[in-house]
Amino acid sequence: ALPPLESLKVQYYTPALETKQRHRLHIQQAIRGATARGEMSLAFQPKLSLADHKILGAEALLRWQHPEFGLISPGEFIPLAEASGDILCIGDWVLDEAMRYISTWRAQGLLNDDFHIAVNVAARQLSRKDFAQQLLARLEQWQIPERFLALEVTESGLVSDMNHARQQLAQLAEMNIAVAIDDFGTGQSSLAYIKTLPFSTLKIDRAFVMDLETSAIDRQLAHTITQLAHSVGCDVVAEGIENSAQAAYLSSIGCEAAQGYFYARPLSAEAFLAWCSEWKPLCSTPHTETVNGS
Ligand code: C2E
Ligand code: MG
Ligand code: MG
Ligand code: MG
Repeated sequence: ALPPLESLKVQYYTPALETKQRHRLHIQQAIRGATARGEMSLAFQPKLSLADHKILGAEALLRWQHPEFGLISPGEFIPLAEASGDILCIGDWVLDEAMRYISTWRAQGLLNDDFHIAVNVAARQLSRKDFAQQLLARLEQWQIPERFLALEVTESGLVSDMNHARQQLAQLAEMNIAVAIDDFGTGQSSLAYIKTLPFSTLKIDRAFVMDLETSAIDRQLAHTITQLAHSVGCDVVAEGIENSAQAAYLSSIGCEAAQGYFYARPLSAEAFLAWCSEWKPLCSTPHTETVNGS
């Protein structure tokens, strides 16, 4: 039997629950230092224009390869890192790592001027008073023009302090950094956010995409969300596209961009570059198309 947990309030004791809590605690402790130990990396998922399947950029997604537990999903460890505050260090690491790739790929002549890498930003990061200023300093350090970086913020990240978020978002808009509201429609007060906060992009959550072929209500919702976004001047990106029917419908309602397993899963940096060169080169130099046949 396992020794009792002193630091946790276990309301209904079961061995399974205790094991789960211990696992959680273990992970929470292991997060600290995971970047320094070289266990974290970024995966890249291409973002494509629905109209012509041009590569617009990529979303950087954090990966954690734990020596004992294997690959741990960000869905599991990000909330823990947010709760403990470790997300601030990890978030800085993610930004630096994304900028390192942008800088390297630019130096190698691989990036179009309109290519961007989108980094997910947690509530705790945005609630720093000087988040936008620090970001600007980082971009200067890496000598990267702002347009190569974009941010994604989830609605839940905004709930806590709307006024502060508004200030930071206004500064980011002034800096010409595109900010997307992520997982739109799954959080709270979506409409209030889109009305009052300066976003440039709205990401339709996978929840509205997965049943498009079978659900008339979901088709209507996706359409309405897209019109709503356009009416306030936002571009629309749909996430979680897994088949051509979903892509065709989203394209027909005017959704600009898409991400999903249908095009590519999140890939390692090397695999991402290989995927891009097979799909369409990132360069603006003349090339032969190998995939679209268009
Ligand atoms: P998200 O930003 O909404 O990212 C999209 C998630 O959907 C990713 O999961 C991606 O792998 C997955 N996905 C993409 N296309 C498809 C598809 O066609 N089908 C299915 N079933 N899934 C698809 P992932 O990588 O596990 O990330 C989960 C969440 O973790 C992200 O959701 C984001 O909120 C958070 N996250 C990831 N990296 C970071 C990071 O660096 N910082 C912060 N703060 N959060 C991060
Ligand atoms: Mg995202
Ligand atoms: Mg999302
Ligand atoms: Mg999501």
